[in-house]
Amino acid sequence: MILYKKAESVTEYLIEQKKLGKTIGLVPTMGALHEGHLSLIELSKQNCDITVCSIFVNPTQFNDPKDFEKYPVTVPNDLHLLEAKKCDVVFLPSVSEIYPGGVKAVKHYDLSDLENLLEGKYRPGHFQGVCKVVDRLLNIVKPDKTFLGQKDYQQCMVIQRLINLLELPIELVLGNTIREAKGLAMSSRNSRLGQDDKQKATAIYSALNYIKEHYGEKLPAQLEEDAARFLKSHGFDAVDYVSIVNGTTLKPVNESNSNNKIVALIAAFIGGIRLIDNMVVKP
Ligand code: AMP
Repeated sequence: MILYKKAESVTEYLIEQKKLGKTIGLVPTMGALHEGHLSLIELSKQNCDITVCSIFVNPTQFNDPKDFEKYPVTVPNDLHLLEAKKCDVVFLPSVSEIYPGGVKAVKHYDLSDLENLLEGKYRPGHFQGVCKVVDRLLNIVKPDKTFLGQKDYQQCMVIQRLINLLELPIELVLGNTIREAKGLAMSSRNSRLGQDDKQKATAIYSALNYIKEHYGEKLPAQLEEDAARFLKSHGFDAVDYVSIVNGTTLKPVNESNSNNKIVALIAAFIGGIRLIDNMVVKP
């Protein structure tokens, strides 16, 4: 495994590899790696000759400065896990390497409705920050494919839109959400949960399963209300949203008889930590 900290050096190396006919897969992460990230490394290894994992806690996507300060950083362990998975290249840049012009550089991406719905509504500026870092990483690595987790459903849609906007010849490949034994979606933020809250946090998975089971029997609005009540009565302090939406447009569905792909998404707080999760209710 080769570790690069400089953008120029990793680009140079990967351009050489491309000339040799090798395909490149990129797995962008913010570190504090877990099985969810490692499943994407695995997926990239199955699909590409060279797998690049980037580790960068991107300051421009945090709308809450305290969340940024407290974001777990476990670089030595991350490198150990990536080495064990036989990841080929790790890119571990500094902030100035990603943002040579400073973090405030004004570039705006037209994300249309994706910008203001769901996560966009509760985390203003978040997806612009995600696009900034992903635009830069795609430019540095120039991968053939990039691998993202469906755990961040809306983020996957935003990045697909970014790829389309920039007309990049890059395929987006989605990996399934990896969960703990009791259903809690793995997340770097889970490490900040106490044992008791971690146990209670599985209520998100139960709520999503409840929606899936009863979709079609009850109106979406009723299911959303039931699920939010369930979360609050099972230890969650606040619920930003429980939304049953069209899986392509992310617009709310009002009736259960739609033929479209339907996804239920939840964002809720437990023990001061904001968790998100989702489930495809109807493919
Ligand atoms: P993050 O480090 O949280 O920015 O995540 C990096 C990538 O890993 C993103 O594409 C996430 O969607 C993905 N990811 C995070 N958690 C999981 C999970 N539990 N299962 C699958 N992919 C995940």
